[in-house]
Amino acid sequence: MSYIPEPIEKLVRELNGLPGLGVKTAYRIAFYIADSADIKADNFSVALKQVKERIKICKTCFGYSLDDDCRICSDISRDKKSLCVVERPQDIFVMERGGFKGSYHVLHGVISPLDGVGPSDIKLKELFERLDSCEVTELVIALNPSVEGDATTMYIAKHIAGRDIRVSRLARGVPAGASIDYIDDTTLCRAIEERQDVSC
Ligand SMILES: [Zn+2]
Repeated sequence: MSYIPEPIEKLVRELNGLPGLGVKTAYRIAFYIADSADIKADNFSVALKQVKERIKICKTCFGYSLDDDCRICSDISRDKKSLCVVERPQDIFVMERGGFKGSYHVLHGVISPLDGVGPSDIKLKELFERLDSCEVTELVIALNPSVEGDATTMYIAKHIAGRDIRVSRLARGVPAGASIDYIDDTTLCRAIEERQDVSC
């Protein structure tokens, strides 16, 4: 039988399984919070709640936003002719670190038949509608270098083949199987600079 009080065990159950967080770290955080001043625990719980209550999905790029349109989509100084396609909303902030100055489109996934994810399960229709209605001349596909990422890149390239849009993807040098948010800034800057055309 465990002598650890139930509220701490409950917090550990919630923390355990969060990305990169195992059971030992979950206990360390739970004991840290039990030991913290009330105000720190309160601030933590308010911050957690606000992320769910205040963060919306931008209606244009499908990235994170506080309003209907995110700050990047509302920024008239951004290059609207260059559109970068990413898998997850947080990948936008990675590309910003790499110095990309255009606009974004978040797919919210990649095509993965083994996981039952087809083209209609991610924001591909919305991407193609956007390409029809906007003057995009360059599409930078910045998906993770995986079988699914590559298949999705090829699907997009084939779908818009013959149109007057330059399609490129990040240059390799990005470690296979790695998530792009783990890449150091220098490698990422180089990968953006040396992006390659996708031919099909
Ligand atoms: Zn947006």
